[in-house]
Amino acid sequence: MRILVTGGAGFIGSHLCDHLLEDSHEVICLDNFFTGCKDNIRHLLGHDHFELMRHDIIQPVLVEVDRIYNLACPASPIHYQYNPVKTIKTSILGTMNMLGLAKRIKARILQASTSEVYGNPLVHPQVETYWGNVNPIGLRSCYDEGKRVAETLMMDYHRQNDVDIRIVRIFNTYGSRMAEDDGRVVSNFIVQALRGEPLTVYGEGKQTRSFCYVDDLVLGMMAMMECEDITGPINLGNPNEFPIIDFAKIILKLTGSKSKIKYMPLPADDPVQRQPNIALAREKLSWHPQIDLEKGLQKTIDYFREKL
Ligand code: NAD
Ligand code: UDP
Repeated sequence: MRILVTGGAGFIGSHLCDHLLEDSHEVICLDNFFTGCKDNIRHLLGHDHFELMRHDIIQPVLVEVDRIYNLACPASPIHYQYNPVKTIKTSILGTMNMLGLAKRIKARILQASTSEVYGNPLVHPQVETYWGNVNPIGLRSCYDEGKRVAETLMMDYHRQNDVDIRIVRIFNTYGSRMAEDDGRVVSNFIVQALRGEPLTVYGEGKQTRSFCYVDDLVLGMMAMMECEDITGPINLGNPNEFPIIDFAKIILKLTGSKSKIKYMPLPADDPVQRQPNIALAREKLSWHPQIDLEKGLQKTIDYFREKL
């Protein structure tokens, strides 16, 4: 198949391009390089089945493909809060453009949604039927509400125009090619530990997150794209849940670093707890994460050690 990956030069997108090419598909990687970079896809540039297109999904585009994976959107709080109006435009206008394209060329489209649609969840672990607890006017809203509207647009194009859609709600994912300065906890802690700098724990570090290795996540996305009897939304993530302070200690152990822990103020609206319920993905996709945290972190640490 010919497959369009928007945000293909980013962290998850570049791994998705790798896996699609391994499965002998033709891949068009579309990116505006806001948070993505050529280094993430440099190894693919000479590949016969790979094309790179510099484009911003806020503008319409016409390409002939069978599948569209819509990942374009900054994902770390620092990056999505840098230009919040642009972030919400990317989720709303960008998703509308991709849905318009999918409708016109009759392609199947998968939207990369997020666990952030659950906001600061009052249901734990989070199930797909939970509607969430999101602040509509806070600093995270440009991202959270943008992704919620993107889901609404997906469902309405499906119901009104019969567009063939898939929605995945991605939980915290980590691995090689995360930008070292994007402020997310995994890259921050690893880079700080390797540099011998203090690990910056926000608040008391009691808030929890569940971390999924990127290869596991990408296989789940591809399984969802090719699953015939479900539109989603479906949760994809690893249910291994850790308080952030414990996570910091794991990073110190795995890197062998002597870094100290430095407590910093908790950002506004930082969700208190997060853990995916993946029963639906297990049932419909026969998918569950295979790579345990230590193994995935070791690969990620090796990547950053080399990069630094
Ligand atoms: P990333 O920032 O590394 O990748 C996003 C990519 O989209 C970048 O290459 C960026 O340049 C590109 N992009 C941004 N705005 C664009 C625009 N207007 N037009 C074209 N390209 C644009 O982030 P990521 O972690 O790889 O996330 C990929 C997707 O997965 C995002 O949609 C994100 O919301 C979603 N997601 C990620 C996580 C996670 O833990 N990494 C969790 C939930 C959801
Ligand atoms: N966090 C932290 N120190 C950091 C970066 C993040 O303690 O240097 C915390 C952050 O407050 C949040 C969790 O780690 O509770 C995950 O943050 P991240 O930005 O990676 O993802 P998200 O908040 O979007 O889940």
